[in-house]
Amino acid sequence: MKKITAIRSEFQNIPLKTPFITALRRVESVEFVRLFVECDDGAVGIGEAPSTLAITGEDIYSIKESVEKIKDLLIGLSLSEALKMLHKQTIGSSAKAALDMAIVMLQGKNIIRDKESIKTDITISLNAQERMLFDAKAAVRDGMDILKVKFGSDINHALCVTEALALEVPEAKLLIDANQAWSVDDALFYVKSVANLPIELIEQPVKANDLDGLKSITEVSTIPILADEAAFTLEDVKQIIEFKSADMINIKLMKCGGVSRAVEILEYAREQGISCMLGSMLEGPYSINAALYLAFNYRDVIKYVDLDSPLLYKKRSEKLQFDYRANEIFYADSSSQSSTSPFTMVSS
Ligand SMILES: [Mg+2]
Repeated sequence: MKKITAIRSEFQNIPLKTPFITALRRVESVEFVRLFVECDDGAVGIGEAPSTLAITGEDIYSIKESVEKIKDLLIGLSLSEALKMLHKQTIGSSAKAALDMAIVMLQGKNIIRDKESIKTDITISLNAQERMLFDAKAAVRDGMDILKVKFGSDINHALCVTEALALEVPEAKLLIDANQAWSVDDALFYVKSVANLPIELIEQPVKANDLDGLKSITEVSTIPILADEAAFTLEDVKQIIEFKSADMINIKLMKCGGVSRAVEILEYAREQGISCMLGSMLEGPYSINAALYLAFNYRDVIKYVDLDSPLLYKKRSEKLQFDYRANEIFYADSSSQSSTSPFTMVSS
């Protein structure tokens, strides 16, 4: 049985084409930690976690620190023992996710059976109305028809931009994301005002900890409400679904603690008949690979894929195991991949 012999980590940085702006932050490059979990048979698993201080409370320094803090507990263990030990630790969810995905990769159980392409949305950053319309039209012209539209606390701006988008890019599917910026009253005003517009869903309108507020919006809205920042772990998800605080859940590796935890949430969602979004932060190529592996394997549960980070990179990353053509994602054949491919993917 394989045993872990070493864990090392490094800082990485990928420049973006244009700044990424939401209600919570503005960034010009993806900053992340890449880590390597080495085994006694020479196998190496690779994991990544990005800086998202505004969401998970972790930056690249605290992620690296968390990895350093617990790595001696994992060294010497088998892969399944290491996963158990990892998830008992009280470290940030992103650091956990990076270690989890590296260990799951070493387990080599991940198989893609259905290689048919999937589609991701593309983010339209929060900006002045004219700029958002310009960006949306440019995206549609480039063949991208699922737009994740980011809004801030100005509800009139959100309403005006939504109406203009519905009118001017009618072919696009609109996913609205407020990133917790609205009050319950503003959110209620918004959902009533846009009830007749073709909007796919509204994501995390209010503060993450306001589940009652979220529920009151879900009750009124004819458009599905999706919980993102409110839903980190399986326990959060169960609470939200049981109390009907939201209709859907946005699952992200960095929130739930990695691939093995995301699988638990996906299995629960499948059991409950809940549709999910599989999202990510702005992330590096290995963690996007790990998320895409899930998106390809849980198509029945994952209704929306929000994995557009690689579309925002200035240059394509060679570490990416998938090809993006506009917003359509194809699994690139593993025969050309190096031995450090993140997942063993074979067609059955
Ligand atoms: Mg979101």
